[in-house]
Amino acid sequence: MKDFSRRTFLQHLGLGTTAAFALPSLLTHSKENIKPYDGKKLNVALVGLGTYSNLLAKGMETSQYCQVAGIVTGTPAKATTWKEKYNIPEKNIYNYQNFDNIKNNPDIDLVYVVLPNSMHKEFVIRAAKAGKHVMTEKPMGISVKECEEMIKACKDAGVQLGVGYRLHYEPYNLEMKRLGQEKVFGQVRLVEASFGFKSGDPKQWRLNKALAGGGPLMDVGIYCIQGIRYVLGEEPTSVTAQFGPVTDKERFSQVEESIRWQFEFPSGAISNSTSSYKSNVERLFATADNGFFELSPAYGYGPLKGRTSKGALDLPIVNHQNAQMEGIGQVLLENKPLPSHITGEEGLKDVRIMMAIYKAAKTGKRISI
Ligand code: NAD
Repeated sequence: MKDFSRRTFLQHLGLGTTAAFALPSLLTHSKENIKPYDGKKLNVALVGLGTYSNLLAKGMETSQYCQVAGIVTGTPAKATTWKEKYNIPEKNIYNYQNFDNIKNNPDIDLVYVVLPNSMHKEFVIRAAKAGKHVMTEKPMGISVKECEEMIKACKDAGVQLGVGYRLHYEPYNLEMKRLGQEKVFGQVRLVEASFGFKSGDPKQWRLNKALAGGGPLMDVGIYCIQGIRYVLGEEPTSVTAQFGPVTDKERFSQVEESIRWQFEFPSGAISNSTSSYKSNVERLFATADNGFFELSPAYGYGPLKGRTSKGALDLPIVNHQNAQMEGIGQVLLENKPLPSHITGEEGLKDVRIMMAIYKAAKTGKRISI
């Protein structure tokens, strides 16, 4: 049986510890052995300057490959603050109305949409029409149709489309994927994946169906779906689901307070999940023929923690936003395709699955996916 030290992880990736320069995205916390990159940086324009844009911008502060070069905001005061903080030229500052002029700006390479979920589609399509590569935050959209329209617009415009699946650049989650898909502990039979937190401000857009598309499932349950899919390396064939009781009728008048769902997979594997705006839970657990492996916490910004039936996982702790932007930046600067597991097609798969979960919960029936 293998051990799961940080050294083993690097060796698994084909890297001796002295070859760390080849994987800056996973090692940004350590300056040693990193070969500095001094070429052109990918110029990123962030759309919507809320909580998560601040984290993405912070991640890019230490990025070799990306920088915040532009902003799109409806709030002039934010434009002033960001302009100073990130030294953004006036010509790279847009509002939601004049955003389309970005097509005439050669100094922006990538538009990153970090708006409430139901606004992703409009800004992804406008960015594509402006000829820019686009990243959008998760969930990609609030319906299958929206996602299909975004994919088509990007294809028609010849630009790349990615979804902000930061955990595809995070060592603990990558290790869960390897342990599952390489059957290190044998065939995985059961995955339990749950993510919930106590929602704060009752006026926030996350509780507004028109803006959020749904409740905790759309917001954080999507991480469980991703986690289960990448541990098993297969797609669910059917789902049953149940809404939890509504204990706070005022707060949860539009979106679910909690939801539980169960997938079945072609291999015979099964999964159980809960997503909630009422309980703190953050867990990805897989049990296989010869052991188990798990993360808890599994999906937040870290530090994440994991163990297997053979002992603790000891992997590099990274800044998730930095790791993601390094990965994306490197690929786009080299004019290579984004990895398939973060593309629009992947975002569409998750939205399709979430719609099936809602249908199962509403109808009480087993829904084929
Ligand atoms: P937020 O509320 O902090 O920020 C939203 C931004 O959108 C604000 O700047 C706000 O001014 C702007 N906005 C424009 N029109 C708006 C409207 N009609 N209502 C509300 N805000 C409006 O939200 P956030 O947490 O930054 O989330 C933004 C997106 O990022 C969401 O899609 C969310 O799912 C995603 N997100 C991803 C992660 C991740 O880890 N990948 C984490 C948090 C959020």
